[in-house]
Amino acid sequence: MAEAPNVFSKQYMLTAGPTPLPPRVSQVMAEPVLYHRAPAFVDIYARCLERLDGVFQTRNPVLCFAASGTGAMESAVANLVAPGEPAVVASCGKFGQRWAELCDAYGAATTHVEFEWGERVDPPRLDAAISGLDSRPGTVYVTQSETSTGVVNDIRALNEVALAHGAVLCVDAISGLGAVDLPQDEWGVDVVVSGSQKSLMCPPGLAFASVSERAMALAADGAGVHPPSRYYFDWARIADGQAQKPPNSAFTPAVTLFRGLDVALELIFAEGLGTVFERHAILARAARAGIEAIGLERFGADDPDANVITAASLPAEIDGAKVPKLMRDRYGVTVAGGQGHLKGRIVRIAHCGYYGGFDIVVALTALEMALRDLGAEVERGAGAAAAQGVFADAGTVPEPVAG
Ligand SMILES: *Cc1c(COP(=O)(O)O)cnc(C)c1O
Repeated sequence: MAEAPNVFSKQYMLTAGPTPLPPRVSQVMAEPVLYHRAPAFVDIYARCLERLDGVFQTRNPVLCFAASGTGAMESAVANLVAPGEPAVVASCGKFGQRWAELCDAYGAATTHVEFEWGERVDPPRLDAAISGLDSRPGTVYVTQSETSTGVVNDIRALNEVALAHGAVLCVDAISGLGAVDLPQDEWGVDVVVSGSQKSLMCPPGLAFASVSERAMALAADGAGVHPPSRYYFDWARIADGQAQKPPNSAFTPAVTLFRGLDVALELIFAEGLGTVFERHAILARAARAGIEAIGLERFGADDPDANVITAASLPAEIDGAKVPKLMRDRYGVTVAGGQGHLKGRIVRIAHCGYYGGFDIVVALTALEMALRDLGAEVERGAGAAAAQGVFADAGTVPEPVAG
């Protein structure tokens, strides 16, 4: 059923990254470009660095790179692993695997503890795997929100495992930071990385690494590599620039994206970080209820913290790859399908960032319509009704600050 995409109608982008932008974020980025050493920009830059500490819930410097999120992940490998030295990766999906690919690319002796896609990383099993190694790993790499499946890992418990073995935990929180609570300093997590285009309501292009003093010291050791094989991603170089008063970036920052980030972070704090997390929790409950009401099975572990994206398994009797395609081409509603071996088997409804209750209703309704188009027996409006029920129980249709 090939058909021309209906690109002339209003489009609804309901994906997990890039995510929709608040209008004020788009508008500020249309203003003239600022010179990065002029006070007009330096003020914005300093404010962003301060507010980033707020969303990372840390006193660490949050190091900023002009890169997609993977750049910050690469920095956490380039600064901490050395060829031939042990590093441990615990993964349960496509993004977790990326840590292992990065460690391999930098020549680490990588131990990759893999869990089924859709499961959570099990802390006791990770502990046993590390205990079984001949030499102690300096670093353990994990994913907070595994965006390929919707799973959110128990970072607090995984951090305790890493600390018990004297290792530094590096957490990929690219999709989950700003959606699910991760109080870095309170939990004592050494390294948290994120990116601008998911829960932080900005376009792609900024990557962040919040690095503890302990991890900084380990990196300064060069992880045994002399000369260290990094330059742009060298944490010390970036930290030195950001620590100056006022901050003076080592390289040209993505000035336009920082203007957007400044507004996005203002909106997050106007709503309140706790309220933002609660909004994500209610949206996820609505998505879960809607998917069950449609008659689909939810994909992934049952978990009240899985509030970043919600994945549904598609019925075996329909061609699952057609579902997101029909939703987009016929109805103008873009959602993500599955990645890797989950392609054609799941559909993912995102609710991370600038999302509200009515976005969930749109996603569920378009999903029902596409499923019916493909011959599945789905009751009209079942998903929307279930979502409404969740909003009624919560006493609110959660919406982000308008911006
Ligand atoms: C999106 C995402 C990435 C990749 O980020 P890029 O910005 O595409 O480099 C990595 N990890 C997770 C968990 C993600 O959601």
